[in-house]
Amino acid sequence: MKGKETTMSEAKDTPLTTDPDDGSARLQEKILAEYPRLGLDDPFTFGCHPGVPCFNHCCSDVNIFLSPYDVLRLKKRLGITSGEFLDRYALMPVQKDMKTPVVLLRMSADGKRTCPFLTEAGCGVYEDRPWPCRMYPLGMAAAKDTPDGWRGERFWFLLREDVCKGFGEPTSWTVKEWLEDQGVEPYDDWGDAYKEVTIHKFFEDGGQLSPEKLNMFFTACYDLDKFRSFVFETTLLQRFEVDEDFIEEMKYDDESLLRFAFLWLRFSLFGEPTMRPRPEAVEEIMGKAAERRRALDKAATPSAGEATP
Ligand code: SF4
Ligand code: SF4
Repeated sequence: MKGKETTMSEAKDTPLTTDPDDGSARLQEKILAEYPRLGLDDPFTFGCHPGVPCFNHCCSDVNIFLSPYDVLRLKKRLGITSGEFLDRYALMPVQKDMKTPVVLLRMSADGKRTCPFLTEAGCGVYEDRPWPCRMYPLGMAAAKDTPDGWRGERFWFLLREDVCKGFGEPTSWTVKEWLEDQGVEPYDDWGDAYKEVTIHKFFEDGGQLSPEKLNMFFTACYDLDKFRSFVFETTLLQRFEVDEDFIEEMKYDDESLLRFAFLWLRFSLFGEPTMRPRPEAVEEIMGKAAERRRALDKAATPSAGEATP
């Protein structure tokens, strides 16, 4: 289970920033300044089970930000397509000047904003619950004190929510033991791969994606079944050198497809050399560019008899 999230997801492994107008930045600054930092071997006591008086109290009225891997796991768990998942269970708020896609778990419209996956017995998707639900009561952050930001020193901290009585339970953990017990590792690995796209120098330098590119970004990461159609029903794979076995895997394996999506986005959005165009595709592009240049030169050259200034 998880705690009330006002701090949890906002502090989610995000480089700490110093923008004074940004509420989450203020929270992050508070965490950096006031919250005791924990390392992997530091201990804490916590327990969450059906016997705690607050059982199920923390899965309502929360904002849970979903990563592409969260969506991949949940849609697989539910046996539905990514499009169906997004339609039924996600909110995609659109904000002015947004840089990267934002996807939130849609809470039920029951007045209490209860998580759609909550059952009397607890979380109904427990084995595939999203990253923030796994992490609680821990939060994780990285101080933006190195040139490459989020790769800087990471630390963990405890999110003590009044509603949560789990802190009164006697079970002792180290941070490392908790992360292992909660199966956080694959989520962190996929989170790191996603950050290669979301926390890119392009954005740090003030870059802004066009609405079309932002839409492409969203589809490639979050709407994997639609992205699969794009990959296999267009000339994309004819234009790049991609291992044949990997192509076969992508036809049915969402994780392979998501890996490809990240590589393709880094190539197409930021010009990183993460994909290798096929020589014939390069020749075709060069040929078309030369054709365009010739057409422009021709248009700029005065024809015989035409007056020149
Ligand atoms: S996914 Fe599970 S743990 Fe997370 S809020 Fe919903 S019911 Fe609670
Ligand atoms: S102990 Fe904390 S995390 Fe567990 S159900 Fe209670 S409030 Fe939620």
